[in-house]
Amino acid sequence: MKKTIVIGAGASGLLACISSLKQGRDVLLIEKNEKAGKKIYITGKGRCNVTNNKDISEFFDYIPRNKEFLYSSLYSFDNKMLINLLSQNGLKLKVERGNRVFPESDKASDVTKTLLKICKKYDNFSVIYNSPISDLIIENKEATGVILKNGRKYYADKVILSMGGKSYKATGSNGYGYKLLKKYSHSITKLSPGLVSLITKKDFSNLSGLTLKNVNVTLYENGKKICEKFGDLLFTHTGVSGPVILFLSLYIKENKSYSISIDFKPALDKNTLEQRLLNDFAKNSNKNVISAFDLLLPKNLARRLINESNIDISKKINQITKEERTILLNILKNFKLKIDSKGGFNEAIITMGGVDVKEINPKNMESKIIKRLHITGEMLDVYATTGGYNLQIAFSTGYAAGKE
Ligand SMILES: Cc1cc2nc3c(=O)[nH]c(=O)nc-3n(C[C@H](O)[C@H](O)[C@H](O)COP(=O)(O)OP(=O)(O)OC[C@H]3O[C@@H](n4cnc5c(N)ncnc54)[C@H](O)[C@@H]3O)c2cc1C
Repeated sequence: MKKTIVIGAGASGLLACISSLKQGRDVLLIEKNEKAGKKIYITGKGRCNVTNNKDISEFFDYIPRNKEFLYSSLYSFDNKMLINLLSQNGLKLKVERGNRVFPESDKASDVTKTLLKICKKYDNFSVIYNSPISDLIIENKEATGVILKNGRKYYADKVILSMGGKSYKATGSNGYGYKLLKKYSHSITKLSPGLVSLITKKDFSNLSGLTLKNVNVTLYENGKKICEKFGDLLFTHTGVSGPVILFLSLYIKENKSYSISIDFKPALDKNTLEQRLLNDFAKNSNKNVISAFDLLLPKNLARRLINESNIDISKKINQITKEERTILLNILKNFKLKIDSKGGFNEAIITMGGVDVKEINPKNMESKIIKRLHITGEMLDVYATTGGYNLQIAFSTGYAAGKE
């Protein structure tokens, strides 16, 4: 019987096992942790946004990096096939806002349990834990096996590397897969943290924990607008985060200067907002300026923004000049913040960059440099925004590698 070795019991490795087992192969899964799915466990805040229920053709709008490479694998094992596989094996799923799919139990661990249960249905499946691999066995540019850290060797007809990226290394993915492949002449594109918070030059720690719903944030690179996003923003002890910021972080490169502009009131155009300010001012003309701002924003943010405007917070509304009103209006519609840097790999949801996809066959994830070696999931230079797309990429590329 033909034998497959899969390295890494994460999302991608487990699907690689399942599709290999379906081909009637002998499968050995090797995982360095004491159990499978440590990263799956923390996905979706412990609930695992396992995929998205949109039509698969729409997925590509959410994949900013190398989407063409993923056409074959995403169409061959799409979100509906994943949903069927999980539901037919007893995992009830539900669809939430934005078509995001979660287990009905809200437990990410149920996803791993179900995938392992499927593997264990096959007699020709075996798994070893606490077994980090240290090297590959390559003969005449063909992968024939792996070597564990303890020196043990395992041989197979096909080796699938599903060792993950470089973020949240406590889950097992510490970037070792990239180092290993570099040694065997694979090109690794620049690695950087993605879907991560942004650190601002100014200190916003007094607003830490404050979430703003439905704001519009524009990202500027060297002063030029590059993209904008509408949604929720969170102030942190070092800067800004939340869905809008995680999305924008995908566009931040090294050695460029970035700033964001927050529109706190995107539903109102400048004229309408000015009218609203004038009305609020007229009703409260004997009060301090802060009382009019408190009507528009959470109190601590209102205070901070007035401070930023350099207008005396205790100034009476009837003393506010037209120029000062314009400053306040601009702060509400176009609040500029300089970005210092991105958060690090320890808090990044994904690794941007990875194995250059030009060196990989998109149909079965086989390396074009080393035959019989397949590379899947986050190790590859592909990534998507939040919404269940990254896990689907891991599942689909894993499935493609296990086939044939
Ligand atoms: C906090 C957080 C939340 C997220 N939430 C979501 C979400 O809700 N939806 C979504 O789509 N995506 C989410 N993601 C992204 C998603 O988790 C990843 O894209 C996906 O897990 C990648 O799967 P993978 O199989 O490629 O890698 P991993 O899941 O990281 O698996 C790699 C496996 O390889 C093992 N391994 C590594 N090195 C070795 C070695 N030397 N020897 C043996 N084994 C090794 C690791 O221990 C690990 O088990 C989230 C990520 C994070 C960090």
